[in-house]
Amino acid sequence: MPGKNVSKAAPLSRDEVALREELRAGVQKLAGEIGERNMWRYPQLNAAADFIEISLSHAGLQARRDSYELHGQACHNIEAEIPGVSQKIVLVGAHYDSVFGSPGANDNGSGVAALLALARRFAGKSSQHTLRFVAFVNEEPPYFLSGQMGSFVYASRCKGRGDRIEAMISLETIGYFSDAPHSQTYPAPGLGIFYPTVGNFIGFVSNVHSRALLRRVIGLFREHGKIPSEGAALPAFIPGVSWSDQWSFWRNGYSGIMITDTAPFRYPHYHSSTDTPDKLDYDRFTLVVSGMEKVIADLAEASKL
Ligand SMILES: [Zn+2]
Repeated sequence: MPGKNVSKAAPLSRDEVALREELRAGVQKLAGEIGERNMWRYPQLNAAADFIEISLSHAGLQARRDSYELHGQACHNIEAEIPGVSQKIVLVGAHYDSVFGSPGANDNGSGVAALLALARRFAGKSSQHTLRFVAFVNEEPPYFLSGQMGSFVYASRCKGRGDRIEAMISLETIGYFSDAPHSQTYPAPGLGIFYPTVGNFIGFVSNVHSRALLRRVIGLFREHGKIPSEGAALPAFIPGVSWSDQWSFWRNGYSGIMITDTAPFRYPHYHSSTDTPDKLDYDRFTLVVSGMEKVIADLAEASKL
């Protein structure tokens, strides 16, 4: 689904300027202050969990830990729910661990900062459908795409309870943009023929099963969004398509999509010690999040979900 290309970032509204500073502060806290956070840096992993829990509570939401044990250590997914009239659920998620050796500003401080900012904006509002905001632990290797991944444990429990998750939206590495020629690459030969070679857009990706949700979200984003977007429903075996928490939901029978700047296919600091807060493009990152706020609001009120 290639989209129209615009080269420069649109100006921010007053609300968006406030949002940008919130996002910047969230990334700074996670990647600047706490830094690398994973099972090898367990106190830092827990410091991130505490920060997320406190942030959700400050927003007036009831944060709940969904915990499991790994190598004898407690690990926590953290969720907050805003009940709707219906029991159908729109779930927004982001992983809060960072890969070994990286402070994880873009991957995935950006996703978590966005998750918290979005949760703040929906707190205290009521909608037709239930909204759930979840921060996942242990997305990165060696748990990546395994049953030990935080989101896999979480999604299996949802399935076991019969939770009616109609849309899972994974916020994964969403803060880096470039206007340089050939700044965008692709996992499969040929995709570059159909999609832009300049990394100035936000990407929406799903497996083939979730393509209806993908089309719908892109359609809504393009109605409201002030930043170019591209989308593709692709077979899950294409590198990158399943590389985040949406995979866990697919495996448990749910529809899910990933929103991403495409990470390794654009970001020079992917999974490295240089993935620091100063590398992000906060203006365009903000436009992604403000666009997603409207998408989520529309999904939450949709007559057919
Ligand atoms: Zn990630």
